[in-house]
Amino acid sequence: MLQLYIPLNFLGVIYREIKQSLADMERLFSLLDQHREVADSPDAQPLVTHGGRVAFSHVDFSYESKRQILFDVDFTIPAGTTTAVVGHSGSGKSTLSRLLFRFYDVNAGAISIDGQDIRSITQESLRAHIGIVPQDTVLFNDTIEYNIAYGRPGARREDIVAAARAASIHDFIETLPDGYATMVGERGLKLSGGEKQRVAIARTLLKNPAILIFDEATSALDSKAEQAIQAQLKEIAKNRTTLVIAHRLSTIADAQQILVLDHGRIVERGTHQSLLAADGLYKQMWERQQARKDEELASPPVEVEQ
Ligand code: ATP
Repeated sequence: MLQLYIPLNFLGVIYREIKQSLADMERLFSLLDQHREVADSPDAQPLVTHGGRVAFSHVDFSYESKRQILFDVDFTIPAGTTTAVVGHSGSGKSTLSRLLFRFYDVNAGAISIDGQDIRSITQESLRAHIGIVPQDTVLFNDTIEYNIAYGRPGARREDIVAAARAASIHDFIETLPDGYATMVGERGLKLSGGEKQRVAIARTLLKNPAILIFDEATSALDSKAEQAIQAQLKEIAKNRTTLVIAHRLSTIADAQQILVLDHGRIVERGTHQSLLAADGLYKQMWERQQARKDEELASPPVEVEQ
């Protein structure tokens, strides 16, 4: 009886651990909106990058056959530059990043990186060259070191620390009870939105990808945290091809190219200045955001005691 009890108990522990890690994987997949049906072609080759020029050529896309989401989307992000995408909610901004990561295949047209159609390269190599800083970072129930190193399994401690320093989270980690060995995630220390995003930035720096997708948080951080994240983003976007899915126009004013998406079509493109001068949808969106900001300044939100 005892003999049977011990292994079962032991199995129970293992089962709980596996279940937990599966739950984490599921969360990760649902966060990234993973589509599992895209397969490598039999003769898929590893991606070879020379700077990471991204091109969307006349892309049409629909998740379901009845509703087309993107129409003839055509743009290039020159290697090492930043392109930001703006547009109303549901206009298709995040869909662009899902297609670049090849969670789905396009219905018409093509997406290429340095001239290689992403359908002709291995998904593993594609994803190794693209770093995503998502809106909401998943933290595993593990140490903060593990969570940063997740960007590059097997990374050396000194590289992890260097990435944490560059993401301005090293000093914070040093104040934690067990430093880099502190458990975080749901069952450990809870980190704030800004701290989690810094972990994601450290992960990405460690991964060192040629291409970066930054999905800006919809829920605004406080303005100090926001400015710090923006400064960091600028730092990691340097010399990388970057696609920013933007929710606040003020954060992307210095992008080399801004695309304005409306119901799945690019309706305007240019720099912040040229788009303001064009006096179209971008300018309307800009003025609306400015007005909202002025309103907030005039009547700051009152804290309600609970
Ligand atoms: P937001 O600013 O609100 O994040 P967005 O511009 O990023 O919006 P997308 O997430 O790209 O918009 O969605 C574009 C359209 O595609 C929306 O109408 C959405 O309902 C639809 N959509 C998104 N994901 C799926 C999916 N997995 N299956 C079916 N339709 C989807």
